[in-house]
Amino acid sequence: MGCYRAPVLIGAHVRAGKGLVPALERGADIGAEVVQIFTQSPRTWKPSQYGDQVLAGYRAAQADHPSIVATFCHATYLINLATPDPELAAKSRACLGANLATARGLGASGLVLHIGSHRGSGFESALPKVTEALLGALDVCSSTSVDPDGSCPILLENAAGAGDTVGRSFDELSRVIDAAGADERLGVCLDTQHLWASGTAFGTVEEADRVVAAVDASVGLGRLKCLHLNDSKVPFGANRDRHENIGDGAIGPDALAALLGHPRLDTVPAVLEVPGGGDGPRGVDVARARDVWLQGVELRA
Ligand SMILES: [Zn+2]
Ligand SMILES: [Zn+2]
Repeated sequence: MGCYRAPVLIGAHVRAGKGLVPALERGADIGAEVVQIFTQSPRTWKPSQYGDQVLAGYRAAQADHPSIVATFCHATYLINLATPDPELAAKSRACLGANLATARGLGASGLVLHIGSHRGSGFESALPKVTEALLGALDVCSSTSVDPDGSCPILLENAAGAGDTVGRSFDELSRVIDAAGADERLGVCLDTQHLWASGTAFGTVEEADRVVAAVDASVGLGRLKCLHLNDSKVPFGANRDRHENIGDGAIGPDALAALLGHPRLDTVPAVLEVPGGGDGPRGVDVARARDVWLQGVELRA
C-alpha cells in the first residue's frame, strides 16, 4: 500500500470586473479550490470602491461556496515600498494600507505584495523604508480592521529580477522579514515563473529539494503561504515577469512537477495566474495543474 498524499489545493486568479461574487463563482465554475482577487484595479491608484456591505456579501458568498476554501488577494502593482522618491513612497504606504483593509474585509488568507524597486538606490538603503511601510500598514489595519478573524498576513512575493526589484532571492526576502522583527504577520508567496526567470533551477527532484531546503533555511517553510503556479514565456534567467499556460512555456510540465510534487509543499495552495485563452485561468488550466501535481507525486513514489 502506497502512502496517500492529500492533493494540493489548486487555485486561480479570477477577475473582479463584474464584481466580487461573480469572480468567486467563476473560480467555482472552473474547479478552483482557492481564488485570488485584486483588492482594487491593479494598475491605478484609484482606491477600492468596496464598502462594508459588499465585503460582507463576499464573505457570505464564500460560505455558500464550500468548494472554495480560501481567498487570497493581490495588491496593486503600482505600490513601491523600496522607492527613494518620498512622494511615491507616501502614496505606496497609503495604498498598501487600503489594500490590506480590503483584503481583511474579504476574509482573505493573505495579501500578496510585490515589494518594489529601489531604482538604483540599493537594497541596504531601501530596507528600512520597506520594513517601516510593512509594519505601518499592519499596525494601522489591526486597529481599524473589519477582519472577522483578526489576521491577514502580507505575503512578500519573490521577484523575477527585473530592474532593481527587491525580493529577487530567498536571502532578500528573509532579510526584509528579519528587519521587520520577524513579525508573524509577514509571510511569503513564491511564483514559479519568477523563480525560473530569476535563475533558480527547480526542474529535477534534486534541484527542487535544494530549493525547498533553501526556502526553509532562509524565510522558513512556515511562512510560505502560497505558490503562484505559472509557466514562463521567457527563458531561464531572463529576469522578466511573463506568465504562460502550464505546459505551454519554457519551464514545461516536467520541471513544474518536480517542484510542485515536493511533499513539504502539499499544504501550500498553488494559484494559477496564467493567461488561459486571454481571460485568465480556465477549467482546463486547473485540470492541467492537478495533472502536474500527480506527475510530481509519481516522480517521488
Ligand atoms: Zn504577484
Ligand atoms: Zn508574475
